[in-house]
Amino acid sequence: QLVQRAYNFNAGPSALPLAVLEKAQQELIDFRGTGMSIMELSHRSAAYEEVHNQAIALLKELLSIPEDYEVLFLQGGASLQFSMIPMNFLTPEQKAGYIMTGSWSEKAFSEAKLFGNPYHVASTKDSQYRGIPQFDELQYNATDAYVHLTSNNTIYGTQWKEFPQIGDIPLIADMSSDILSKPIDVSKFALIYAGAQKNLGPSGVTVVIIRKDMIEKANSSIPTMFKYSTHSKNNSLYNTPPTFGIYMLGEVLNWVKGIGGIYEISKRNEEKAKLIYNAIDQSHGFYSGHAELGSRSLMNITFRLKDEELEKKFLEEAKNEGFIGVNGHRSVGGCRASTYNAVPYETCKAFSDFMLQFQNKNE
Ligand code: PLP
Repeated sequence: QLVQRAYNFNAGPSALPLAVLEKAQQELIDFRGTGMSIMELSHRSAAYEEVHNQAIALLKELLSIPEDYEVLFLQGGASLQFSMIPMNFLTPEQKAGYIMTGSWSEKAFSEAKLFGNPYHVASTKDSQYRGIPQFDELQYNATDAYVHLTSNNTIYGTQWKEFPQIGDIPLIADMSSDILSKPIDVSKFALIYAGAQKNLGPSGVTVVIIRKDMIEKANSSIPTMFKYSTHSKNNSLYNTPPTFGIYMLGEVLNWVKGIGGIYEISKRNEEKAKLIYNAIDQSHGFYSGHAELGSRSLMNITFRLKDEELEKKFLEEAKNEGFIGVNGHRSVGGCRASTYNAVPYETCKAFSDFMLQFQNKNE
């Protein structure tokens, strides 16, 4: 039986690989001979622990995470990390640098103000967050508790192509919307965090990749659940973890490994994004990309049409043709196609063809 899958361009939660959903469906009622669903197993059972530990091991393998880092599975979304980071690493006397590249950086910055003295290392707000700052614009202090950046700006559609070297200052990155989309040098970062619901699995799990020395030097006078050390000491099993989400995440990682790993996924992501960027660039201004060329995201492709009326028509027709989630974020409007790992090439091709047809009819 052929499954009719939607052309899903949702920004998050987003598409999951069909093969993963099918496997989960098959295992849903009787998980590997236990006579129970994975959701019904104790999180202390051997069957669950195997799933949990394999997911950690696979993420370490796929991202080449060095030995001196730990992978944690937390809850509360990337949004709780906005608070946990300053809670653990910032004191009222200290400064922390935030590189401002969009709404998620702003949210992270606001939380840090509750704990210490965050400041802007650089900001591209004056240019409607169309770009990522140049390295020589980054003004930070050697005494900063840390510097924070957002690797991919889901709403504006911009992405860091290279990450800055900032000496001994811990570099912290919100990679919610591009983790596992391309190879990264984890050793540049003291901490990486990501909500799972774009490239990694369903919502409900937050991945934290943390260098071990950060766990040791964190503030100890905070509530137990907010301490990275609590989760590290207990292999992310201090309390009941989101077991189904972690199982799904493990299966998504298996899928990435199965298709050839991080280099293959990265190559595919480039090809997919190119289809849609080409439709924009070859439209002679019918479509205009929001991001500066050098800062274009390979995950979220943001663009506009000449006026709101035409944009409305475009979005309506896209919807009628079965393209889901093409509206820009409610805070900025416009159009956005999110081409995360699980979005097939064919879906992007169908959309770029649609863009061309729409242009031909409406130019
Ligand atoms: N950071 C980025 C870059 C995001 O795209 C999002 C959600 O879309 C968040 C943080 C917030 O994540 P969560 O909903 O998991 O708290």
